[in-house]
Amino acid sequence: MLGLKSFSWFVLLLGLAAAHAAVPPDHVYLNANVWTGDDARPQIEAFAVRGDRIVAVGATDEMRRLAGPGTAVTDLGGRRVVPGFNDAHWHLPARRSARLDQAGSVEVIQQRLVEYARALPAGSWVVGRGWMPTDFPGRVADRRYLDAIFPDRPVVIRDRDGHQALANTKALDLAGIKRDTPDPPDGWIVHDAQGEPTGLLKEAAASLVTQRLPALSVDDTYAMLLDELAAAASFGLTSLQDATDVGLTDTEHAAVIRAVDKGTMIVRYRAPLPLEKDVPAAQIAKYAALRDSTREQLVSYGFVKAILDGTVDAKTAYMLDPYVGGGNGTPMLSQQELDRAVAAFDRAGLQVEIHAIGDGAIRMALDAYEHAATVNGPRDRRHRIEHVEVPSKADVPRFRELGVIASTQPIGASPDVVTMENYAPLLGPERSSRAYDPRQFDDAGAIQAFGSDYPVYSMDPLAGIYAVVMRQTPAGQPAGGWYPQNRITVEAALRHYTRDAAYASFDEQRKGTITPGKYADFVVLSRDILAIAPAELLATRVLLTVMGGRETYRAPGF
Ligand SMILES: [Zn+2]
Repeated sequence: MLGLKSFSWFVLLLGLAAAHAAVPPDHVYLNANVWTGDDARPQIEAFAVRGDRIVAVGATDEMRRLAGPGTAVTDLGGRRVVPGFNDAHWHLPARRSARLDQAGSVEVIQQRLVEYARALPAGSWVVGRGWMPTDFPGRVADRRYLDAIFPDRPVVIRDRDGHQALANTKALDLAGIKRDTPDPPDGWIVHDAQGEPTGLLKEAAASLVTQRLPALSVDDTYAMLLDELAAAASFGLTSLQDATDVGLTDTEHAAVIRAVDKGTMIVRYRAPLPLEKDVPAAQIAKYAALRDSTREQLVSYGFVKAILDGTVDAKTAYMLDPYVGGGNGTPMLSQQELDRAVAAFDRAGLQVEIHAIGDGAIRMALDAYEHAATVNGPRDRRHRIEHVEVPSKADVPRFRELGVIASTQPIGASPDVVTMENYAPLLGPERSSRAYDPRQFDDAGAIQAFGSDYPVYSMDPLAGIYAVVMRQTPAGQPAGGWYPQNRITVEAALRHYTRDAAYASFDEQRKGTITPGKYADFVVLSRDILAIAPAELLATRVLLTVMGGRETYRAPGF
């Protein structure tokens, strides 16, 4: 029974709720084709926004009736609307660079570098990234291709995966690299038949040159950040989760804070903290305090990241069985070190993200999470494994059992030249058949969050969705798809890019679906991606991106 006092509170609350409901929305979006991601109400026609939230969803007539004299009304003309994309694995690039992805030839690389350098101060370093060995004749990257276009200006370009760099002669001179320069630890200076450095610098040797690059100011970093955020918004992204294992530099942190202060932080941003072994308890407590003070903010903290192995292409991913041709790769921490570090951060309630690509490293990460649960007791942890490219079949069910999130990159299912000529042969057919397979996690009932791994790959979610739905290159190769049994549907991919990615950052109450009470984060698309032939995904464009009720991107002409 209600006492008098609680009864009057009850009436007051009812009154407040009614008054709130009577405030007209700021904006109603009508006549749309909305995939909400909400199982309770998957398809709606219209929705209303007040402040940064969705306040109502329903039929066009219902929403129209909510509008007051000051309400903006947008008729979306039947367009497909989806929740804002959330990239669960993204990186703020370390510096501006020319994009050399998908160049395909030395000529295109040269052309892009020359064009990019035009906007830079005369004589300054030219930095690029994204080339692949197959772009060079005979697959041999050599400084002479860079010297031909930049004889007296330093140039250094990283490959797509960031494991090697090519420098021109001027850059080698500035770094003091000569024919007798010794290799640094964990790095290799490649030489030609005459013993001269070719300019190709593998692993840690690249830093001999890159450490000569001028330090970036906060102004430079802020300008770059704004470009990255604008690009993200143009792809329909409303949330980014930065997976950089070393965390943000002081300069990057200052740039991010400036963006928040100036109102230019147009994408929600989850910033990384490093997971290191044997970190003092005071440091862990500091991270936990940072998480608590930034909860639900535009920029938030809350997880720590570690790298446990390398990549298949470099044969550094740690495998249970050897690669074709030998070698298993090596984990960067022992099981004991990993268990101890994970348990320490877990005890403070911090979420853990571990980069693990080979089946050996994936098993180690799962074991460490299981160990943390055993020693620290049950809790809603949502620890994550990043990439999870080649899991052992036996370990896939453990994701669901342990509540571990598979944080995967759909674009990896695109069978490009590197995949078909290097990656797959190193694994052999049995392991290839379960590499970059998002289907196995869905079938096992695990939560799977999608990300791009930008700037390794494009951050365009539609390109990622195309790759997992088709398992073909953009040109439609191979016919029939690469292990087509591992395809998933557009709808499953959408879920992984929206509500599952929100769950992966403990944000499912606030974002990821178009539901009253959640942030007004959504995207209007040029085509109905749930109805068109999947090949048309690549021709689909983002027309409008809204983050927290604010327009963050509008396509020209829309
Ligand atoms: Zn990454």
